[in-house]
Amino acid sequence: MAPARDLRDVLRRHGYTVYDIGNEAHMVHEPPEDHTPYSETAYPGRSVYGVGYAIDIMPPKTSARSKVDGLPLPSLQQLGAQLLADRNGGVSGIRWLKYMNWEPERNNGGLCYQESWRPTYRRRSSSDRGHIHLSGLTGYETSTIGSGYDPVARIRGDDMSEAEIIAAVRKAITTDRAIREELSRLPWAFKPADHGGKTTAHAIVLNGHTRTLTAIAGRDLVDEQQVAADLAPALLAVLTPQAIAAAVPAEFAGQVADELAARLAS
Ligand SMILES: [Zn+2]
Repeated sequence: MAPARDLRDVLRRHGYTVYDIGNEAHMVHEPPEDHTPYSETAYPGRSVYGVGYAIDIMPPKTSARSKVDGLPLPSLQQLGAQLLADRNGGVSGIRWLKYMNWEPERNNGGLCYQESWRPTYRRRSSSDRGHIHLSGLTGYETSTIGSGYDPVARIRGDDMSEAEIIAAVRKAITTDRAIREELSRLPWAFKPADHGGKTTAHAIVLNGHTRTLTAIAGRDLVDEQQVAADLAPALLAVLTPQAIAAAVPAEFAGQVADELAARLAS
């Protein structure tokens, strides 16, 4: 499936060993699972014949460095924690994940879990050790949702400054057509947000899109009000007046219009 392939390729570029199609034991196993091109454990629909739905990420050597940025390769424990946080956090690039088998403490030793989303999140114990196993949902076979998702970069992103995050978000919104399209598809269900007792148009905008922006930026936005002020021009650039008029609650329509007029005039 495309998003698993995209993640496989990103991780291989960093230097991880990532497997996809299984060996003969997988092929003749009853029932055939997600490392075969004819899985019978697909969810929520039936598998598409010829499509594999799983990858295995192998533990890197402790001294290994990323071939992309030269920094130490995250362990499977760090990588798994990021994947889990992103999947539970609604990050779109990993929304295709059906379940993950991993060991959060150490390789081949401590606890081993299966984290699954079928459809709601549930953790149970697993015996599938020695690697991270990822299985995908049906319906994402040809999806581009995973393109650009890089959990290693997201782990590094913890060190980004607020200014770098804002710059990254602004750049993403203004230069990335896919993100702009995603924003334009979102239901414009603006909710009032109380920022220091003052509800502003850009706070309303941001309040509805914090998750998207967080996904783009790669971490929580710390000072929402400041970010809102800084991002307002870029956000307003991707909103059509019709979208705003159609979705903004009547009691805020005037404020949004005022804000837009002020932004357009400046
Ligand atoms: Zn596997």
